[in-house]
Order: sequence, then structure tokens, then C-alpha cells
Amino acid sequence: MSAPDAEPKARPTVLVLGGTTEARRVAEGLTAIGGVRVITALAGRTEAPHQPPGEVRVGGFGGPDGLARWLRDARVVAVVDATHPFAATISANAEVACARVGVPRIALVRPAWEPGPQDLWHRVPDTAAAAAILPTLGRRAFLTVGITDLMPFAALRGMTFVVRAASRPVAALPFPAEIIVARGPFRLEDERRLLASRRIEVVVTKASGGSATAPKLAAAREHGLPVVMIERPPPPSGPTVATVEDAVRWALDRAARLGH
Ligand code: NAP
Repeated sequence: MSAPDAEPKARPTVLVLGGTTEARRVAEGLTAIGGVRVITALAGRTEAPHQPPGEVRVGGFGGPDGLARWLRDARVVAVVDATHPFAATISANAEVACARVGVPRIALVRPAWEPGPQDLWHRVPDTAAAAAILPTLGRRAFLTVGITDLMPFAALRGMTFVVRAASRPVAALPFPAEIIVARGPFRLEDERRLLASRRIEVVVTKASGGSATAPKLAAAREHGLPVVMIERPPPPSGPTVATVEDAVRWALDRAARLGH
């Protein structure tokens, strides 16, 4: 995909690698302050995603080479990698591409969730391990692992599933399930009601962190339900920040230094 048109009087361009609530808030913060051109890149997995302010670009760049080319052509002065903690490929691509073309990059890494004394968490390394442990914990499972990671659960027998997805799946699921299409942020009272009305016995989630999807954990705790917690891949290497505000401040600082 080609680089965006140059502006007549160019403001420094910041690329936000997005797809998360935090990325949208970074774009909101940068555009509210002004003085920079903000382009948010989305993978294009979600139907009708919440649009961040500024410009939006949808679809892959074509690996690290494509991203490096795009950064150069668009004269990007700073990259904020605010992607999902499980979107490890785009983060690795950003690391390589930014290093190659000399564009500074920061990763906004959400703090991980931590269990309290009442939580019944079972930490597992991946979805295959989650599927392996699941029948020992309950027969009715609430799966919130992303629509592309359901295959390992297809081999399980004697289980019923409720699957929550951010958008309606384009293909049939690999097993029969009730599908709930909903996007966070979720409210505790709704999560409580969902677990009770579906008679859920076990919750499966990625260790995504962040407040938007955390209420399911509080609801599981209240119901005394076990949670299978799929661990994150290692975070991107290089500098990181933990808050939207710090990411905005960093990008504005880079834009002020490198944009002119
Ligand atoms: P990924 O495995 O890191 O990326 C795969 C490819 O998708 C990348 O190589 C890139 O294609 C493209 N891509 C990903 N994010 C992009 C972005 N922000 N802008 C432009 N292109 C992007 O990520 P994923 O396949 O999207 O997701 C991996 C896991 O993360 C899933 O299991 C999912 O549950 C979770 N997740 C992702 C998102 C998201 O918005 N990405 C949101 C919620 C959850 P090119 O190599 O062609 O550039």
C-alpha cells in the first residue's frame, strides 16, 4: 500500500500501531494537543472498528521491509507501538523496520493483570495448554481468546462453549458454540450476569491486561470460578512506557526534536 500524500506544509508524522483502546487514546491525546500528523495503522481484523481521530490506514504493510519503506516514504518521525500484547509479529516487524530507517519507537505495554488471594487462576503458556487443562476445571467454558485461536478447543469432548468475539466470525467456528459478539470495555454487572445466565464453570482468557476486559476476572472471582490464563509472549524489546499519557508525551517530544 502506498504512503500517504505529503502535506503542503508538513507537520511531523507520528505512526500509531493500533487496534487497542490504548492506541485510540494515544491518537486522541496527540490530535487534541495538535501540531503533529497522526496516522493510526489497524490490522483490519475487526469489522467497523472504533475510529481513532486523525488518519487511519487499514491492512498489513508487507512485513518489516514493507513497513520500513512505508515509514521512509511517509517521513514518519516517531512510532508508538500500542498494539495488543499478543500481536507479537507486528511489534517485531516494527522493531526491525524502525531500526533500519532510524525512526525512534516506543512500545506501550499494558501492565499485566495480577491475581488476588481469591482468584483461582491456572497459568498456561498457550492455547493448546489451555485446552488440555480445561476439562479438569469445568464442562461449560467461556472462551475469550480471540476468534483465530479456537482450534485447540475443537478436539475436546463433553464440553459446551460460549465464545465472545469482537466481530461476527466470517467462517464457521471449529466446534458448536454460542457466539456473543461484543467489544469492550465491559461492565462488571454485565459480566456477572453473563457468567450466571450461561451457567459458566470456567473462563479462558489471554493475559491481555488493561481495564477494558478485566471485569470478567472480577466476576469469575465473585462466582468462585477458575480462570485459565494464557500467558503473554515476551514484550517487544527496546524502550517501553506503561501509560497512554507517557506515550503521548514521548511522541510529542520526538516530534518536536526530529520534526523540523
Ligand atoms: P500479529 O500476529 O502481530 O500480526 C500479523 C500481521 O498482521 C502483521 O505481520 C501485520 O502484517 C498485520 N498487522 C497486525 N497488526 C497491525 C497493525 N496495527 N497495523 C497494520 N498491520 C498490522 O497480530 P494479529 O494477527 O492481529 O493478532 C495476533 C493476536 O493478537 C491474536 O491472537 C489476537 O487475539 C490478538 N489481538 C490483536 C489485535 C490487533 O488489533 N492486531 C487486537 C486484539 C487482539 P504485515 O506483516 O503485512 O505488516
